[in-house]
Amino acid sequence: MSVLTMQDTVQDAMKDTIIQTRDVSVFYGEKRAVNNINMDIERNSVTAFIGPSGCGKSTLLRSLNRMNDLVPSCRVTGSIVVDGIDITSEQVNIEGLRQVVGMVFQRANPFFKSIYENIAFAPRFHGLTDRRSLDELVENSLRKAALWDEVKDRLRDSALSLSGGQQQRLCIARAIAMQPTILLLDEPASALDPISTMKIEELVMQLKEEYTIVIVTHNLHQAARISEKTAFFLLGELVEMDQTSKIFTSPANEKTEAYISGRFG
Ligand code: ADP
Ligand code: MG
Repeated sequence: MSVLTMQDTVQDAMKDTIIQTRDVSVFYGEKRAVNNINMDIERNSVTAFIGPSGCGKSTLLRSLNRMNDLVPSCRVTGSIVVDGIDITSEQVNIEGLRQVVGMVFQRANPFFKSIYENIAFAPRFHGLTDRRSLDELVENSLRKAALWDEVKDRLRDSALSLSGGQQQRLCIARAIAMQPTILLLDEPASALDPISTMKIEELVMQLKEEYTIVIVTHNLHQAARISEKTAFFLLGELVEMDQTSKIFTSPANEKTEAYISGRFG
């Protein structure tokens, strides 16, 4: 094989991986919450993190956009490459990283501002001041978050007048407005009723056309419904990561089997 073809092959093989962790451990003080994680996450796919409470899902998720930097006792070792860049490097522009890797939390946390301002605030802060462009961005972001039809006549109302499910979609729209490549969702539907949960699930399945999605969920049915790959964690370890259908039908590890069949949780 010529060097050139080999390079092409390497690039082809790399093309599908957008996040790669190597020997990633995360500590809070002396305590290791996440232990030696190696995983590859595919571009434009949905990857679910599952496992019992306290097994390190959120901790690992937050290390993917350096959200753990906000916790003084927290330390991350190993390498995390996002779209070709080692984001654990000192030189990384954290704000830029969080723009590319957006995040939505378990509890919807809209700003105490209008629906419109929730979307427009950060882009305007970053220099987008033209009214027409802002209007367009707000509309497009709300459309992508499947919220536009519900709010288009009340954009000036407070975001807090929305239902919990709408607020969560607003938070997704707010992340989308920053034109991210990756969306990290930490149990985005766990505080929502079944209908709002279904809307979030439908939304996630649409969004993967355009974004790479990593979602933490304690809802196994949800993981099975919406993800292509599932990673099962236990006590800070990645026990197994595979095609979701494989994890839920014939996992390789007996602990995975025990967890998905409800023998502990
Ligand atoms: P999960 O999301 O799977 O429930 P977490 O990532 O939240 O798990 O927590 C993993 C471990 O790290 C737990 O033992 C938890 O108590 C600990 N932990 C999480 N956040 C902090 C923190 N800010 N300070 C100290 N320990 C923490
Ligand atoms: Mg968590």
